[in-house]
Amino acid sequence: MPINPDACPGPCNHRARQAWNTYDTAQTQHTADMAAWLDIPGDDRPARPAPPQPPTTPVTPGAPVWDHRCARVIREALAELDDTAAILAASIDGHRGAAMAGPNGVKPVDHKTIVESLDELFGDLVEVEDQWRQARGYRPRPRRARGAHARAACVSWLLDQLDDLLLHPGSVEFGLSVLRWQRRLRAMAKVDPASRRSPIACPRCRERQVSRREDGYFECVCGRLLTQGEHDREYARQADEHEQQEARAS
Ligand SMILES: [Zn+2]
Ligand SMILES: [Zn+2]
Repeated sequence: MPINPDACPGPCNHRARQAWNTYDTAQTQHTADMAAWLDIPGDDRPARPAPPQPPTTPVTPGAPVWDHRCARVIREALAELDDTAAILAASIDGHRGAAMAGPNGVKPVDHKTIVESLDELFGDLVEVEDQWRQARGYRPRPRRARGAHARAACVSWLLDQLDDLLLHPGSVEFGLSVLRWQRRLRAMAKVDPASRRSPIACPRCRERQVSRREDGYFECVCGRLLTQGEHDREYARQADEHEQQEARAS
């Protein structure tokens, strides 16, 4: 017997799914034990094998697909994907030609892996955007050059649509893939969720050493402070600049 088909497919039911898997295995074993037991002639039979007890782990139902907590987890993960991807892309730009040395002697991730992964991520995201546009009868996705801009635009479009999207039964694969991508990019960027590293180059010293402080300001190691608004404008400007450079290069 599988877990309730109305159960949320998200991380909230991780323990319940494990418990039901264990129960399934125990049931298969019990069937085999019973067959062996029945083969033993009457009086020699030991005590009849006891059947396994179904799990009592609580199961969170989906509403109707995901429960509210998992829907929020997916929303945060999707928003984070773009940030982490930008950090990874910036780490390549910042160290072109050299292996990316992570902080604290973390094993370097080679550029090819990052470029290919970001490409694959973009492909996954636009596939969902295209499918959802078609399902909803929206206009097709505007043609944009592949790059940071196109990825950010796709993520923000999906975030806009996410509440409705996650009500659709077809969103199970999408939601789980967002969570898988979050783990994969985090592993590549070795992103500490507590660290608030920004992908932008400092407008004063040009170093990529800008982080968000507790009070919401962004600060570079050189001491330059930026408000959230200034930071976001700088981010957009640098993304444009980067895109134009790419366009000229190709
Ligand atoms: Zn859930
Ligand atoms: Zn600086």
